Amino acid sequence: MSEETLSNLSREDRSFEPPAELAAAANVTAEAYERAAADPEAFWAEQAGRLSWEREWDQVLDWSNPPFAKWFVGGRLNAAYNCVDRHVEAGRGDTVALHWVGEPEADTRDLTYAQLQDEVNRAANALTALGVGSGDRVAIYMPMIPEAVVAMLACARLGAPHTVVFGGFSSDALASRLVDCGAKVVVTSDGGYRRGAPSALKPAVDEARAKAAAQDFEVEHVLVVRRTGQDVAWDDAVDVWWHDAVAGASTEHTCEFFDAEHPLYVMYTSGTTGKPKGILHTTGGYLVGTSFTHDAVFDLKRDTDVYWCTADIGWVTGHSYIVYGPLANGATQVMYEGTPDAPFKGRWWQIVQDYKVTIFYTAPTAIRTFMKQGREIPDGFDLSSLRLLGSVGESINPEAYMWYREVIGGERCPIVDTWWQTETGAIMISPLPGVTAGKPGSAMTPLPGIEADVVDEAGESVPNGSGGYLVVKGPWPSMLRTLWGDDDRYVETYWSRFRKQGYYFAGDGAKKDEDGAIWLLGRVDDVMNVSGHRLSTTEIESALVSHPKVAEAAVVGAADETTGQAVCAFVILRDSAGDGGEDIVEELRKHVAKEIGAIAKPRQIMVVPELPKTRSGKIMRRLLKDVAENRQVGDVTTLADSSVMDLISSGLQSGKADD
Ligand code: ATP
Ligand code: MG
Repeated sequence: MSEETLSNLSREDRSFEPPAELAAAANVTAEAYERAAADPEAFWAEQAGRLSWEREWDQVLDWSNPPFAKWFVGGRLNAAYNCVDRHVEAGRGDTVALHWVGEPEADTRDLTYAQLQDEVNRAANALTALGVGSGDRVAIYMPMIPEAVVAMLACARLGAPHTVVFGGFSSDALASRLVDCGAKVVVTSDGGYRRGAPSALKPAVDEARAKAAAQDFEVEHVLVVRRTGQDVAWDDAVDVWWHDAVAGASTEHTCEFFDAEHPLYVMYTSGTTGKPKGILHTTGGYLVGTSFTHDAVFDLKRDTDVYWCTADIGWVTGHSYIVYGPLANGATQVMYEGTPDAPFKGRWWQIVQDYKVTIFYTAPTAIRTFMKQGREIPDGFDLSSLRLLGSVGESINPEAYMWYREVIGGERCPIVDTWWQTETGAIMISPLPGVTAGKPGSAMTPLPGIEADVVDEAGESVPNGSGGYLVVKGPWPSMLRTLWGDDDRYVETYWSRFRKQGYYFAGDGAKKDEDGAIWLLGRVDDVMNVSGHRLSTTEIESALVSHPKVAEAAVVGAADETTGQAVCAFVILRDSAGDGGEDIVEELRKHVAKEIGAIAKPRQIMVVPELPKTRSGKIMRRLLKDVAENRQVGDVTTLADSSVMDLISSGLQSGKADD
């Protein structure tokens, strides 16, 4: 890799001040940055005071054996107690915790904190009866139904680490995770509703169990929620209905308290860059991080806000910002089972209108899909309850940010673009909505207590206006503790690139603009080297998306005889653009040259109907690169729809453009 840092291509001059009213009443103000920087441990100890501890810690941080951190050493707590019981004890039992909305329209259910407590206690008793105790692993393979949250909290209550496997994954993916973490019990359902039809889950569990058995691993029990009423195969020795085991169980359960470093869960990464990694999170620090950031970044006012995060609980976003953060904070939230377009395209906006959602957190991929469909759809609903919008998962292109701001946020809602990872457990870089003037496309500033920076090859902080590697310079409470069962891979993957400096390297490229604001530029593995210039994917993609005919874009570098690598782009057009017209490729190439410079002009642009995305909605550029370089396409197991790759490969042969 060359010594040169990442080129800084695009310029963005727009900036939006926090709304005055929000700023005046913000949960966290500007002073927090300085206070946290002056004494990070004292700052985190103060945040830990948000939780209820059975025993207070003796030491905030033990970093004597880096990179293996211990936070709140000696402290004892129970995560489920913090997310549920303490709110009931404080007199908030009648507050709605979950407004659950099923995909079939008439299917809704509200759960108060008191009801949630009863359900979690019942499930904890049922799991105990199935032999689950502290330290045992439980896999959860479920649709977005309240029982999924209940199951997670019941595990946490028992000190049994859960591993939630996204319900869209195949039996192979499930089997490998069952074996990798040694799951004793699987909680699942007969099926769930997606895109207007019931889709089955239990058969995949049966298959996964057989595949695990073939590797000498036996799952002891499968606890099955009846959701769709589909027929399921049944093994009396293993399978147990939730409505038998849980509904009949006692609502009384006395919880045990666990060490702050007791494992809370294992979550496998999305697999955007390769084989998923089993990330281990523990109890105390994780809960402190998620609770603090949920409060600070979303400015949650728990008595008046209705919060909605559209992620699936099968991703870390669902863990941190549907389950642990919001519930630890006593929030009232919406949870939705289905897809945004079922049974009609405005379904999400209907839900915002019906439940008067005030805080809305989603992914850029969803926003770009709505942009593609046109603003008429959201314009048909009353979205005036919204006061704050969030984005997570990828860089939000400036154009998508502006659309989100104008069409969904009515130009009154600040947008928090939140950068973080499965590994970081909680949001690391984001505007604070009452403090930071947001720039479209920038995650802005590390949160108070977080020391993140952009550095060059040698680990030196780059000056403003340059790009490089995004690193975190010190430990933070919600950081991963290791990779499940593989300490060496943990050290190697995250701590070896800047071993000398002791920095955590996240895998992402970023730049600091003239004001020092941080812009994420995509994965460093995806950086292109064109005639000696190191170009990132994000800025070229954003330039393409800023063209009025384009809704989404993915850019990769393909080997090129003259320039080393050349930029290859794949674009999805907006519905309003039709087929784009016959000059579309030339028009877009010129547009990129004008927006960010001739060096970034794609050699090739292909208009495609879809892009390969992970199940969590991220574009898998490595597969596009395989196509662009005429290679066999790599691992597609975490791809949402593998036929997309065939469509793209066949079309590519006809899409070449010459200079
Ligand atoms: P794998 O590590 O298996 O390749 P993954 O990195 O996609 O999977 P996640 O932990 O779900 O798994 O995603 C974290 C990554 O998502 C970050 O490293 C970053 O590349 C990207 N990301 C998340 N939020 C943002 C954001 N606000 N801006 C830019 N990129 C983001
Ligand atoms: Mg990753």
